[in-house]
Parts: sequence; structure tokens; C-alpha cells
Amino acid sequence: MTHFIFVTGGVVSSLGKGISAASVAALLEARGLQVTMVKMDPYINVDPGTMSPFQHGEVFVTEDGAETDLDLGYYERFLRRAKMTKLNNFTSGRVYQDVLNKERRGDYLGGTVQVIPHITDNIKERVLRAGEGYDVAIVEIGGTVGDIESLPFMESVRQLMVELGHKHSMLMHLTLLPYVSSAAELKTKPTQHSVKELLSIGIQPDILICRTEHDVDADTTRKIALFTNVQARAVIVCKDAKTIYQIPRNFSEQQVDDLICERFGFDNLPKADLSDWDQVCEALFNPEYTVRVAMVGKYVELPDAYKSVNEALLHAGIQNRVKVQIDYVDAESLESQDLAILSTADAILVPGGFGERGTEGKMAAIRYAREQGIPFLGICLGMQLAVIEYARHVANMPEASSTEFNRSTKYPLIGLITEWLDERGELQQRNLESDLGGTMRLGAQKSELVAGTKTREIYGKAEITERHRHRYEMNDRFIAPLEEAGLKISGYSSVQHLVETVEIPAHPWFVAVQFHPEFTSSPRDGHPLFASFIDAAKKHYQNAQS
Ligand code: GLN
Repeated sequence: MTHFIFVTGGVVSSLGKGISAASVAALLEARGLQVTMVKMDPYINVDPGTMSPFQHGEVFVTEDGAETDLDLGYYERFLRRAKMTKLNNFTSGRVYQDVLNKERRGDYLGGTVQVIPHITDNIKERVLRAGEGYDVAIVEIGGTVGDIESLPFMESVRQLMVELGHKHSMLMHLTLLPYVSSAAELKTKPTQHSVKELLSIGIQPDILICRTEHDVDADTTRKIALFTNVQARAVIVCKDAKTIYQIPRNFSEQQVDDLICERFGFDNLPKADLSDWDQVCEALFNPEYTVRVAMVGKYVELPDAYKSVNEALLHAGIQNRVKVQIDYVDAESLESQDLAILSTADAILVPGGFGERGTEGKMAAIRYAREQGIPFLGICLGMQLAVIEYARHVANMPEASSTEFNRSTKYPLIGLITEWLDERGELQQRNLESDLGGTMRLGAQKSELVAGTKTREIYGKAEITERHRHRYEMNDRFIAPLEEAGLKISGYSSVQHLVETVEIPAHPWFVAVQFHPEFTSSPRDGHPLFASFIDAAKKHYQNAQS
């Protein structure tokens, strides 16, 4: 039977609930347990797929093609043995949609449909299903205790804890201990109030994770324990860390795992071996030098929009023993053709994106990387633009474009599959509605890498699996003229033979990919493409020094 740890947050948002939950998960995994994680989001959007990265940060894509909250990215980066799926993230909107569809079908036989029990039952079923087959499921509730929107989730958790019982459920609550400088004191009152708020809906926390910028003395933790009915040993201090990858070690020092294992009756488990996490931190704290990557994008004011890319670069730095400094460059600022800002870059990266805004600036950066021999990695839209840039300036197709932003271009290098089949008069013969119409290619798919290419050498194998999230594809009628002009298609999707990866063999390191390698990078294992990219940045740096 699965054991559940529910995770709530109090006082303020952005305390790092997802990271704390994931760190506990990593620690339990290190004890040998099978651990999974779930995120419940109280907003009404059915999924985050259509939400602006400005508001919500990155959309994380799972192996099975779900567009999810970016916390799932943390879950996968901290866990080695569990992969997130469609079951691991759901919103109020998804739950309501489900219940309303059943109501329209008549499933409720004329009964009154209500938040309790219909919405709460739906939530409970989803939580239980996501936990099936695991020793422990850690379930995070988005938002902060006291929010109107999260009440149905809180009520579901309350019911589940009663039904599962003490031996199979626990609640971990994150709070803030603010420091008031005029009194030179850490204040516990907000923590007391947020626990009261939980108690008022019938939930007693078992563990408190207290976020703070300062050291906390034993008197303070005893006081918190006393006022919140939590054991003193279960009041865990989580002081701001130099890196989030220290937190599993921090929690282990406070024996959070022992507390959980005792409660759930997991006896005789080996001690947690955290040496791999220690190595990650050791490499982060002792880089040999710094390399600079210019990241040319649209959402540069909100780095969370590129969370997984940022993390993947950090991981590549760990593997290469360098600090990777990311310089965010607003693509539109390059449209004046003043590229001086790129002159300090050891490497240039153009990440994924949607819509026309900033694309000319991104192509200016790509051209600069190509002509100056600066290592370049293009991801998704970044690959599409690399292909267009090459067509325009090398392959003699000056008006090359993507139909995403130029529907009447003479050279639709990038387009919807339906458009290029239509162009060949093949649209009628092929029944595409079901999968490829105007819908997204989402989730993990296999590709074959071409022998003799750099891409294949980097991966060290012929068949790879990577995650996708895009609608447009490279039109294959342009493959021949581009290859003649020196751009190499180095990988094709296994099933549909769509262009997946391109490279410029005559360039020191120029690789662009239609998929999103950032989603599968992790601090302990990295990702071959990012590792090789940062290795190339190091070489560029060293050449510039000599
Ligand atoms: N906008 C492009 C497409 O839909 C690229 C998407 C992306 O970069 N994720 O194909």
C-alpha cells in the first residue's frame, strides 16, 4: 500500500515548496524506496499548456506528452527512478471538466453535483491512482493555505488522511520565519497563524519546514513545536542554501528521513547514501573558471520561463567543472543589428518559443555565431530559425521563412505538415486529422542519428529518445538544397522521418535540435548535448585567452 506525504505552504508563496518536496523525495529514494510525486494546481486552466511563460514560467513536458507545471521538472531532476506522467499534475480546471462531462452524460443520475463529494472524490481518486505501485507518493498542493481556490484540495487531503490513517499518511507544511531587524529577531507568529489556518480546516501538520535566511536556535524551534503541536524534532530548519542541490543533505542531517521511515514503519532500510549529491555540490562550489553563454530569447526578464534550459546549462557546468554564467539577451534588442553585446559570449543558445516577436533578432545572433565560429545550440524554434537563417544567407533563398509568421513566403522552410502535403496534393490521401493536423507534437519520440555526424558522436548511439513540444516542422523538400549548401541533417524522427537535428560540419560546434533536450537533463547525470556544448564553450574560452 502506498504511503502519502502531503505538502502544503503557508505565510507566503514562492517558498520553494516544490524543491523541498523533491528534496525529501530524493532522500527517501536514497533510502531505497520507490518514490513518486504529484502536483495539484488550484487554478481553473485545464493545464498550463496555454498559459503565458511570463505568468507561469516554463511549461514542463513529460515523457508521455503532458504539458505540466514546472515543479514537475524539479521532481524529475531530483528523482532517478520515477518518471512523471499525465497522472502527476492536475488542476482544478481538469477536475471540474471531468465532473462536468460526467454530469452532461447523466452519470450522476439526476443527483445534485457538489464540490463535496463530487469534486473532492475526483481529486482523491486522482491522488490514489498517481501513487499506485510506489512505496511513497509526495503530493504537493499549489498555492498557500487560506486561499479560497485550494479549499477543495485541502478538504480532499483531510479526508484522505482520515481514510489512509496515521501509518500511511503525513502532512508536511512549509512556512517562513521572517527576520525583523529592528528587534533583531526571527518571528514565529506567521508560522503559528498558518498552522492555525490548517487546523481550522481539520489538518494537523506532522512536519514543519521553516524557511529562513538566518540560523535558528533550539529555543525557537521548541517554541514553534509547542505552539503548533508538532514534535520538536519535526521542526526542520531550511536556511537559504547556496544551491538547491544541498537540500537533500541538509534534510538528512536533520533526520527527516528517519522521522518519515519510523512513522510509516519502514524498518531496516539502509542509511541514505548522498555521495552523488555531495559531488554535485562540490563541483558547483569549485569551478575552474567561468564561461559565458548568451541566451537569446523573448522572456529574458523572467528566467523561470527557461527554467529547464537554465538548469541543463548548470548541470553541464558541473560535468565540465566550470561555472556557466547565463547572459540573457532580449532578442528584439538585436534587431538594430548592433551585436556588440554578443562579443563576450563563449557560446550562444537560442531556446524554444512561439510567434514572430524577436525572431529577426534571434536570427541575427545565429548568423553571428555561425560566421564567427562561436559554439551554437538551437532548441526547437531555435533550430527552425537556424535553418531559415542558413537558407537566407548561405543557400540563396533570401525570403525563406516559417509559415508560423509568414504565410505567403516563397520558401516555407518550416511549416505545418498539412501545408506541405497540401502543396504536393497529398493531403487527401493521408488521414492526418488524428495526430498531425494543426496539433502539437508532444512528448518523447525516437530519432535516428546519421552515421558520421557530430550529433551522433555526441550521443554515442544511433537511436535517441527526446521530448517534443512544437507544431511546425522542417519541410523536407528543402533538405537537398540546404545539404548542398553545407547544412547537414544529422537526425530524423524514427516513425515519420521528420527532421530532428541539424549541424554545420564546417563550424567548430553548431548543432540545433527540434526537440527539447533540457527536459531530461539532471544534476547527477547531465545531458550529452549540453555537456558537449559547454565543452565547446570551454574551448572557445581557452582559445580567446591564448
Ligand atoms: N513555435 C514553434 C512550433 O510550434 C516552435 C515551438 C517551440 O520552440 N517549442 O513549431
